[in-house]
Amino acid sequence: MRSKARARPKKRKFSDPGRSYAKRLERYRPGLVGFTLDGLATRYGRPTWERRLDPTSELILTILTQNSADTNAEVAFEALRRAYPGEGPAVAHNPGSGWGGTGLADGAAPDWAAVEHAPLPGLTDVIRPGGLANQKAPRLQETLRRIREERGDYSLEFLGDLTAFEARDWLTSIDGIGKKTASVLLLFCFGQPLLPIDRHVDRVLRRVGILPPKATIDQGHDLVLGLFEPDQMYEAHVNLIQHGRKVCHAQRPDHGACPLLPRCRFVDPKAP
Ligand code: SF4
Repeated sequence: MRSKARARPKKRKFSDPGRSYAKRLERYRPGLVGFTLDGLATRYGRPTWERRLDPTSELILTILTQNSADTNAEVAFEALRRAYPGEGPAVAHNPGSGWGGTGLADGAAPDWAAVEHAPLPGLTDVIRPGGLANQKAPRLQETLRRIREERGDYSLEFLGDLTAFEARDWLTSIDGIGKKTASVLLLFCFGQPLLPIDRHVDRVLRRVGILPPKATIDQGHDLVLGLFEPDQMYEAHVNLIQHGRKVCHAQRPDHGACPLLPRCRFVDPKAP
């Protein structure tokens, strides 16, 4: 008699690495994630989500922030509005406390067709004040082209009907869009439970010891999904980014003003 075929191992679920890492961290440093969230909330409060901008504008603005300060990205975005004015309704930018600039003025989104089809040297000049224009101008056009070719127009509202991972996969299939940019758009436009890791978030998480020192930022994006509950992602992102900007600076972090000091491994490698 033939032996019964062995059950095939179940395919790993996307978030398994995050879940098993979270369990290990909880075993060795119980309560660390909750301690961090609560500590940051004592200083920055508990932010409530509201949509920041329409998703296409958010994506273009986020591309403009890549390796540039948020204030410079704002200047470049306003320049796009002036050079390629759109005819849609004026919309408000609700930057919230995680944003490093002053916020965009109320205004219509740029004419995305005009941006996509603009002569490249002209577009490069328009966004030059934002920094890295030679890389970003073709990236903007390629991104807009992909959206139009796949969707027939420039709207990204359909992403709100997909799961967080389907939407992230769709976005990261576009050249030059990584998990951070995709997660920013999905978190801030749709409240999807993803946690974008920029350099500030990354620094705080590693120093406290929530992220392992050897994990890449790409791996970190998956690990955090097991660490924080879906309804904690927005608060975690906004408060970690503020903490990295205001207290846990890259150079000379202000340990004395930090509510995370008692459990920070950067200060005490044996912290509980
Ligand atoms: S104690 Fe210092 S290094 Fe640790 S999180 Fe706070 S500011 Fe950063």
